[in-house]
Amino acid sequence: MEGPTALNTEQLHAWTSKAMTRARSGQLPDYIPRLSRASPHWFALQITGVDGQTHTLGDSCLQFPLMSIVKPFLLLYLLCQWGEESVFKRVGIEPSSEPYNSLSQLQHDQGWPRNPMINSGAITLASILSETDSTSGYQSLWNWLNYYGHCQLFLDERMLASVKSFPNPRNEAIARELATRGHLTEAVSALDTYNRLCCLSGTIVDLAHLGMLLLECPPPLQSSHCHTVKALMTTCGLYQASGRFAVQVGLPTKSGVSGAVLSVVPHLGVIACYSPPLNREGNSVAGLFMVEQIAKALDLSIFS
Ligand code: GLN
Repeated sequence: MEGPTALNTEQLHAWTSKAMTRARSGQLPDYIPRLSRASPHWFALQITGVDGQTHTLGDSCLQFPLMSIVKPFLLLYLLCQWGEESVFKRVGIEPSSEPYNSLSQLQHDQGWPRNPMINSGAITLASILSETDSTSGYQSLWNWLNYYGHCQLFLDERMLASVKSFPNPRNEAIARELATRGHLTEAVSALDTYNRLCCLSGTIVDLAHLGMLLLECPPPLQSSHCHTVKALMTTCGLYQASGRFAVQVGLPTKSGVSGAVLSVVPHLGVIACYSPPLNREGNSVAGLFMVEQIAKALDLSIFS
């Protein structure tokens, strides 16, 4: 099978211009002021193959926060540090048909977070870091990602200030519900750690490097942990759209509300895309379009 770098640049440019037309139908998130001021025209794409070949399109200097794309890496880190049994005592592995910040899903489940790719699950996992070290718990994950992922993520302090400047009653209520039900001990510090992790930022090249971590799984990472993370990206990574995307495209994929998308093509490479306008489910319109075109043209679905 040909890897995702087998495409020629003309083809990628043609899809990019279609993607940008489609992105006009998307919206910028309104609950994080700094994200709402992003340009809908910003675009970057990086495809990296296991053979070391790359394709970079658009503006590879743009820096953006990972937002929810940090969730699979938070999970991976904790699996490596704590093992499957301890982690999955705290969070489930079931998909949810509700939005990523749904409180009603959590209440319906008696406060049990369904999976690590939605806010309730990630806030619970962030609490493991903050329980260990409330001031610098997130720093160990940050350092770990930069070391093993060979990337240069930084904490975007202005983005963090923007996140904190605007009340997020959903996330606050989720954290309180988790604490009330005994799934975490300290709601405020768990949410603070979660927000910091969401504001780890980098370029499209950094994002592709992170993706390679799930593909190459360098020691001491265990391949079973990378496998678990990729499976959960497939079933839960795009929230309510995960099932549809699995059928139509078939690649483990995670999105973030900043407009970033990361897809892993097992054994072959990664596709990372950044374009801020989002669809109704909070996934980048152009990002998902690009992944779909590339996957279909090369028949990359894991189910093929
Ligand atoms: N920080 C964002 C939030 O909690 C992350 C969500 C996302 O990227 N989908 O709302």
